[in-house]
Amino acid sequence: MPAARAITDSQPLVDWLFLDLNSYFASVEQQLHPELRGKPIAVVPVDSDATCAIAASHEAKKFGIKTGTNIGEARRRCPELITVMAGHDVYVEFHHKIIEEVERHFPVHVICSIDEMACKLDAPRRRLDAAMDLARRIKQGLRERVGECITCSVGLAPNRFLAKVASDMQKPDGLVVLLQEELPGRLLELELSDLCGIGRRMEPRLHACGIRTMEDLWAAGRETLHRAWGGVGGDRFWHGLHGGTTEDDVPPAHRTIGHSHVLAPELRTPPAAGIVARRLLLKAASRLRRMKYRARHLHLSVRTENGPRCEAQAKFEEGSDSIVLARVLADLWQKVMKQARWQRVKKVSVTLFGLVAETSPRQLELFEASGASAPKEQREQREQLSRVLDEINQKFGRDSVVIGFTPDTVRTFSGTKIAFTRIPDREEFKE
Ligand SMILES: [Mg+2]
Repeated sequence: MPAARAITDSQPLVDWLFLDLNSYFASVEQQLHPELRGKPIAVVPVDSDATCAIAASHEAKKFGIKTGTNIGEARRRCPELITVMAGHDVYVEFHHKIIEEVERHFPVHVICSIDEMACKLDAPRRRLDAAMDLARRIKQGLRERVGECITCSVGLAPNRFLAKVASDMQKPDGLVVLLQEELPGRLLELELSDLCGIGRRMEPRLHACGIRTMEDLWAAGRETLHRAWGGVGGDRFWHGLHGGTTEDDVPPAHRTIGHSHVLAPELRTPPAAGIVARRLLLKAASRLRRMKYRARHLHLSVRTENGPRCEAQAKFEEGSDSIVLARVLADLWQKVMKQARWQRVKKVSVTLFGLVAETSPRQLELFEASGASAPKEQREQREQLSRVLDEINQKFGRDSVVIGFTPDTVRTFSGTKIAFTRIPDREEFKE
């Protein structure tokens, strides 16, 4: 990388632009409801003082109210606080509008969450002056075309990790640059816990390795971080921190597609919970197909009303066919519920992992030799059928066609929810 830098003129270079929307849900509410602008508001999932804020406006943040603050506590800190019920579908709607606007200026390389995205800059835009100009145009575009309340903080840096760190350093409406040649530079202003990847559990482990400050962290060798993390996560973190190239995309094999659901009391009997589990699986499978992957593992986890969590997983021939996956799930369900002694179920989580791209060649020899797999044509027909079901559900609404249960019993609980780490596509509301 240093060689490539040397041949350009004196203009410093950056490789990534990271964009983080400020107080996202709260800003969308203020955009939609002008009477909320300039006021301390907290977005809440349910109308109760016992709940926590899932977002707070800039004005509320001045009172120390943030995501996770209990609403009772928030009202004590700020009696004039206004709570607003979350409207997840409009947040997704705005998310797509925001992506559209950013892409008028530059392609988004990766969407990190509903309010975060990153662009990998190309040669002309790597020059710091051009990158800053791009950042300012995106900010202005969002304000003019998406809404005056929609502001963001942008970080520019040699890799995505540092660009995200930079985007966190100035809020709201920030623009912060971290240059490779100036590192550690402004990183030393931060606390360890300001860095993504250093959470409550990680900090004591760093302390145990003698790392208490950003100076210590910067001075630590790769082996030390490997030890602190207990694996390659530490090496990755070290590379990221020092401006090295990080993985731009997690390889599909390490990705997961999953859904979980906390059951309403009337759905907590084992038979009803089993239907919920299958509904969650079909939703995940549909998403798997849309992303053009196949999965090789399925994990099922169940939390009973008063017991511990019970879980099991299965490995199978890679596939994306709902019928086969539902069969795998049925076996896992028996296994897990036996562990759970068929008690009432409070929460169900279903996760597909070991993903492979549809385009990669199948690894079938073993299965075919053992006679355990379906003939190729039959398998392809079933995958085709699953895809047709996806299309029908897209066109006519969720659960127009389902496999193995009555739509009416399940329609209400599989509503698409926001995950902070994952944005439902518009199509997903119909899956
Ligand atoms: Mg944000």
